Amino acid sequence: MDSHKIAEFLRSATRLAVVSHQGPDGDSIGSSLALAHGLRGLGKQVDVLSAEPVPPVLAFLPGVADILQRRSVEGDYQGIVILECSDFQRTGLSGLEEHFTINIDHHPGGAGFADLNWVDETASAVGMLVDDLLLRLGAPLDADIATCLYLAVLTDTGSFQFSNTDASTFQAAARWVSAGADPGAIAHQVYRRQPEARLRLLGTALGRMQTDRQKGLAWIELRRPHLQGAAADIEHTEGLVNYPLSLEGIRASVVLREDSRGHCRVSLRSKGEIDVGGLARRMGGGGHLNAAGMTLQGDWSEIRSRVLRELGDLIEAGRGQAGTEEVGNG
Ligand code: 5GP
Ligand code: MN
Repeated sequence: MDSHKIAEFLRSATRLAVVSHQGPDGDSIGSSLALAHGLRGLGKQVDVLSAEPVPPVLAFLPGVADILQRRSVEGDYQGIVILECSDFQRTGLSGLEEHFTINIDHHPGGAGFADLNWVDETASAVGMLVDDLLLRLGAPLDADIATCLYLAVLTDTGSFQFSNTDASTFQAAARWVSAGADPGAIAHQVYRRQPEARLRLLGTALGRMQTDRQKGLAWIELRRPHLQGAAADIEHTEGLVNYPLSLEGIRASVVLREDSRGHCRVSLRSKGEIDVGGLARRMGGGGHLNAAGMTLQGDWSEIRSRVLRELGDLIEAGRGQAGTEEVGNG
């Protein structure tokens, strides 16, 4: 992997951009901002570009207001750092191919699409890789960087709960807290300022949960009227898929929801060795061993049957194998 070359390149470059994926989340935005702050601290000019708006829950992060919402990359950047993406398309930005690109990711299956590539599947969040990079570059760690990195890792480890959480996670978190990240204030922003629509939708979703106890499968289906009934949008469905997985005896969970185009957004979660990331990649999406997703088009009931059948088969194939915990998310 090119982590050494990436550090060398960033050391010498002066005009850079940082981009991440569509459907921005805590790790993609937190890591992008942390990298930009760190590189600016070393005297570089850095733009952060996003194809989609930052979710309101992340608006408190230092630097969000400076993020440029773009559909294409324009500007004479010496290099563009792409975080958390398995290919160019995932950024939602056009024109990347014409630039020198650097891919930093922790998802399996995306190695090698850029000019320099660093994919570490063992990293709990891309925030850990950004932290490593900033340490190598000697970038001074300030409270803004520390807050962004803490947020990235907090959200991608499910609040330090998933089994991707280890001693190195807490060592890094301790360093960030010492540098000014405030765990209570950040948790307040992320977990205790939910819009009412989200909790109403949670009620609807839990009421609609279906299970196949024999297979250990639980799923929730949300069409437009269900969202509208809770005055909710698709972004309010984020994280719902974790609830059915919390049910005793359930090995994998699915949320199927209808987006504004009428397409089916699928979120998959699993415990142990049930590889929903592999399943999602076969169906045109992506993700990790225990957390993945994709968007499907076509007849809704066919989509539902296919996803549930394939996931059921995966659970059957994995029966008897050890492990009961989720590895990672985001
Ligand atoms: P979520 O269910 O939270 O939307 O996504 C869970 C994980 O799957 C995240 O790591 C996310 O990056 C990945 N993922 C979700 N949807 C897609 C997709 O359409 N394409 C790819 N490549 N990855 C996805
Ligand atoms: Mn991530």
